[in-house]
Amino acid sequence: MNIYLKKIEEIAKEFDNRTITIMEVCGGHTNTIMKYGIRDILPKNIHLISGPGCPVCVTSQKDIDNMIALANSGIPVASYGDMMHVPGTKLSLAKAKSLGADVKMIYTATEMLKDENKHRVFFGIGFETTTPMTAYLLEKGICVYSAHKIMPPPMREITTKTKVDGFIDPGHVACIIGSKVFDELKVPQVISGFKKEQIIRGIYKLLVLIKEGKNEVINDYTEVVKEDGNPKARKIIRDNMKLIDSEWRGLGILKNSGLEPKNDKINAKIKYANILKNVKSFSNPACRCGEIIKGLCEPKDCKLFGKVCTPQNPIGACMVSETEGACGIAFKYVK
Ligand code: SF4
Ligand code: SF4
Repeated sequence: MNIYLKKIEEIAKEFDNRTITIMEVCGGHTNTIMKYGIRDILPKNIHLISGPGCPVCVTSQKDIDNMIALANSGIPVASYGDMMHVPGTKLSLAKAKSLGADVKMIYTATEMLKDENKHRVFFGIGFETTTPMTAYLLEKGICVYSAHKIMPPPMREITTKTKVDGFIDPGHVACIIGSKVFDELKVPQVISGFKKEQIIRGIYKLLVLIKEGKNEVINDYTEVVKEDGNPKARKIIRDNMKLIDSEWRGLGILKNSGLEPKNDKINAKIKYANILKNVKSFSNPACRCGEIIKGLCEPKDCKLFGKVCTPQNPIGACMVSETEGACGIAFKYVK
């Protein structure tokens, strides 16, 4: 038996049946946790919930509808693969493409630099991990519709809305922003790697912090995460993008939680404001993605899960990514 699993069993008893709720913020961690059934091998009073760490899931319905509106108005656009399949109010980008809109699916941001159409709009999504590449495109003059977000604000929001005793922090995000930034949350946290042994060790270390009442951050991923993160990546973001209030699926508008181009000329939201001002968005009322992102319910609690909503026919954003979306991962490993 994993030595840390044994230690977790011992420390769990010391909580006297009090349930401890730990949120793994990042979809990458959720993937490992579900793949190896880590939730099922933990003591009953140690409860793991998934957080807002999938870039596809947290992108607002409005941003998706806006991109579809651009494509349908004859503006060539490009998007990463998973985003193509997230349902907007009426259709997805993939569906718009099948109906004739110029929507290009790309695997890496640098494909934008080789595109023959220099007016193509790049749909920038994701956290600090993918933002440096978008900032690089902006530096090269590419027009961007930015739905980029930064990670600490939703974690702060979750601490006020959900009973979370501690966080497993997002490892790749921490690699860019550094470990120090998480201190301000004043909650027990462990920055962990993505292997199952690392996550189990991280859970144990987090339980020790919770037990001792220490609102500290342990960096347990020092081989990748430094205290100050990656200054070069942070600089290119700072040079090309500015902080804005941003809308998150399930969490609403969070102050200073998003990034958009500093240069208005290549900011698609400004350049194409005329097209975007008439876009109306509504999300499917039966879909519980908003609650999933906040850790308030699990995929199986949604009555559409696995029946109406599947990876082949996603009704909500959380079903689209099978590597980072809570419903997509649960469908793959749990059913
Ligand atoms: S990009 Fe990396 S750190 Fe961010 S949510 Fe995805 S797996 Fe986690
Ligand atoms: S199962 Fe589908 S509809 Fe339900 S919360 Fe998940 S993604 Fe949304």
